[in-house]
Amino acid sequence: MDGLFTEIQELNIGKVKRNELLSQHTTMKIGGPADIFIEPASLGDIQKVMTFLKERQIPWRAIGRGSNLLVSDKGIEGVVIKLGPGLDHLTINDSTITVGGGHSLVSLSTLISKKGLSGLEFASGIPGSVGGAVYMNAGAHGSDISKILTKAHILFEDGSMEWISNDEMEFTYRTSVLQKKRPGIVLEAEFQLTKGDRTSIVSQMQKNKDYRKETQPWNFPCAGSIFRNPLPNYAGKLIEDAGLKGYQIGGAKISEMHGNFIVNAGNATAKDVLDLIQYIKETILTSYGIKMETEVEIIGRG
Ligand SMILES: Cc1cc2nc3c(=O)[nH]c(=O)nc-3n(C[C@H](O)[C@H](O)[C@H](O)COP(=O)(O)OP(=O)(O)OC[C@H]3O[C@@H](n4cnc5c(N)ncnc54)[C@H](O)[C@@H]3O)c2cc1C
Repeated sequence: MDGLFTEIQELNIGKVKRNELLSQHTTMKIGGPADIFIEPASLGDIQKVMTFLKERQIPWRAIGRGSNLLVSDKGIEGVVIKLGPGLDHLTINDSTITVGGGHSLVSLSTLISKKGLSGLEFASGIPGSVGGAVYMNAGAHGSDISKILTKAHILFEDGSMEWISNDEMEFTYRTSVLQKKRPGIVLEAEFQLTKGDRTSIVSQMQKNKDYRKETQPWNFPCAGSIFRNPLPNYAGKLIEDAGLKGYQIGGAKISEMHGNFIVNAGNATAKDVLDLIQYIKETILTSYGIKMETEVEIIGRG
């Protein structure tokens, strides 16, 4: 790994670190080290990295703000590429915006609302990056990324870059084409917003934020909803009805406020969370015959 680290450093592509603890980059505050951790400083840098990794057949994973990740205690093999500063540019052209994949979604929605642009109110409390939100088709309050995205600039595994349309993103509930079919990194997104009344947009955002504070454990490290809703059922309601709220394994606890949130109640390991996920799955299957599927992505060494 030493040789590889030096070679990547010599590519001169932003910050490169060894054995960076991913607990520092996830909202659950859990996760072992990435063999190599890169924060590219520009679009050119990230393309250079991808071409190099492809040539060497080195496994990679892009991350944003780590708000939908459960990373193994044993860390991640290969290279983790974090999109952040350097890939967080923003251009506003009338009601069309182009924004870098590393931009924070929360600060984008705040900024945009103050300009009287509507469409991103739903995102006011989603603590991810723009890239992670496009990859996940993040959403809330009856809306999601698919409703506003016109096109996305993607860096594919072979090093090619392409703007792909909303249709080509194949968005469905918390899913996009990038998840399995066409792995790639969201470099930029173009959103079509609409002009609206600044005061009512800002007030809607505040209402959304207040609702979250009332219903979600915002003061504990967590990764948002653990399970996808097995529609027409809601994961949180099933977990609550099964009497599981407050159940704890090690440092991982099912939130008392919201059944679909597992919080890090203190020094939780990924294993604690995985054991709790398994316990919930088994209980819901036995009680209701429903198979639960995780929304949070479980990654890293098994
Ligand atoms: C308190 C809380 C509340 C939440 N509420 C909601 C909610 O209401 N609705 C909702 O949808 N989600 C919610 N989430 C989950 C999470 O914020 C979203 O899924 C978010 O979109 C993830 O973005 P991220 O940058 O943190 O991605 P990460 O967690 O870093 O990564 C998640 C996945 O996206 C991929 N990814 C990240 N960046 C890129 C990129 N640039 N290109 C390609 N792939 C990338 C990663 O490889 C990984 O597979 C919540 C999370 C928390 C902690």
